[in-house]
Amino acid sequence: MNTTDTIAGRDLDALRAAIAGQAFAAGEAGYDQARQGWNLAVDARPAVVVVAESAADVAQAVRYARAHGLRIAPQGTGHGAEPLEPLDGAMLLRTTRMRKVGIDPAARTARAEAGAVWQDVTGPAGEHGLAALAGSSPNVGVAGYTLGGGLSWLARRYGLAANSVTAAELVTPGGNLVRVDAGHEPDLFWAIRGGGGSVGVLTALEMRLYPVGDVYAGNLFFPIQRAAEVLHAWREWTATVPDEVTSMSHVLRLPPLPEVPEPLRGRAFIVVEAACLVDAGAGADLTGPLRRLGPEMDTFAMIPAATLGQLNMDPVEPLPNRGDGAFLAGFPVAAIDALVAEVGWDSGTVLNSVEVRHLGGALARPAAGGGAQPSVDASHLLFAAGATPAPDLSSAVRTQVQAVKHALAPWRASYDSYNFKQTAAPASAVLPPASYRRLQEIKAAYDPDQVIISTHPVWPARP
Ligand SMILES: Cc1cc2nc3c(=O)[nH]c(=O)nc-3n(C[C@H](O)[C@H](O)[C@H](O)COP(=O)(O)OP(=O)(O)OC[C@H]3O[C@@H](n4cnc5c(N)ncnc54)[C@H](O)[C@@H]3O)c2cc1C
Repeated sequence: MNTTDTIAGRDLDALRAAIAGQAFAAGEAGYDQARQGWNLAVDARPAVVVVAESAADVAQAVRYARAHGLRIAPQGTGHGAEPLEPLDGAMLLRTTRMRKVGIDPAARTARAEAGAVWQDVTGPAGEHGLAALAGSSPNVGVAGYTLGGGLSWLARRYGLAANSVTAAELVTPGGNLVRVDAGHEPDLFWAIRGGGGSVGVLTALEMRLYPVGDVYAGNLFFPIQRAAEVLHAWREWTATVPDEVTSMSHVLRLPPLPEVPEPLRGRAFIVVEAACLVDAGAGADLTGPLRRLGPEMDTFAMIPAATLGQLNMDPVEPLPNRGDGAFLAGFPVAAIDALVAEVGWDSGTVLNSVEVRHLGGALARPAAGGGAQPSVDASHLLFAAGATPAPDLSSAVRTQVQAVKHALAPWRASYDSYNFKQTAAPASAVLPPASYRRLQEIKAAYDPDQVIISTHPVWPARP
């Protein structure tokens, strides 16, 4: 008899009776829907899926898993599911329904339950003229994103989202719900701020918000044939901009689908995207050198910071896709030429999206009292991805994503980005070495049996 049979046959009913949420054993009605995350290319088949409604449900589920020898994979949206190890024999513990968000305008903080996605926070925060350090997609989870660092449109001004976390609530691998902050369980507090979700199951996060109402932001669309010229100009421009400007260059190939707006449908572009924390006049001055290149479309305007999640045109609906990213120590002329050779207009690439994000600014300066990623010493971030609606596309996308990374290998930084490393890799590959060593010690203290499965695994330090 395997674990699944044991659970389905007996004790899962006891868990169901103890929680407000739902629990499904493999093969039961509702199991397939409950296990499916945002990335439809991932086909995880855990022994049990628990869909929690509350922190109390999470604690019950953790205790149940411990009692039955199941390892636990916490998950919100499933945006980051691709690098996870196989979940056979494990419990997938989903926080999807825990989406309550509270804003404290006077304290300039937000509290978000672990299933909240960024638009749950940015909209309500925006009503008070406040901005959260949200990423490029409105429906990426606050929890997974922040646990892995969190690169936002305000990153060069305010640093990684993880370093703006002021407190967290989590269920330890021992099944206890604890609140962690600078004064309580400081090791856990340090670990969850950039070290990933390997030390417990997060149930809520509290974070600082910033007094940013409207921002000068938009996109410049150029025909893909101008990729080399625009990338060189963008690179030179980024060397001149203040920390108030966070930007990326984006090789974008849009599918010929009706939901894509007509001027973009079925076309390929080199796009420069930027968010500038300045007024319209200063924004026009700052972006002048790029606009004078003569883009085909120019969407720059003052917009509410809460709508920045639309700037990058990330896919919102669940989508089968493969991607991978890397931190770069530099993005010189030769790197641009290597990138254009891989994904330029005549490359024949099947990749839909290849981004190079400009880092530096506050990201490069150690955050006071920061967590496992106190700063980022890379100058740029590369991320390449493609949709994989058909199985044969999946291997082509994987191969081409790795070819792009290989082409830029001479400029790779010493470690990769926790959040954008979308293929299996240990946490040692995506964290500064000193942080990984400290995380191993914390893992040994709180999860010596490796019960928690995280995106990038941490092996407990040996005594
Ligand atoms: C379209 C898209 C756009 C993106 N844009 C950005 C961006 O702008 N900036 C950026 O930094 N990243 C970005 N990312 C990367 C993203 O931050 C990571 O994929 C992140 O892991 C997603 O978090 P999630 O909670 O949505 O995903 P999930 O797959 O639900 O979670 C990912 C991992 O986080 C951990 N985790 C999640 N919830 C919990 C919990 N409650 N307790 C403990 N551990 C938990 C687990 O290890 C889990 O496997 C983007 C990804 C996509 C697909």
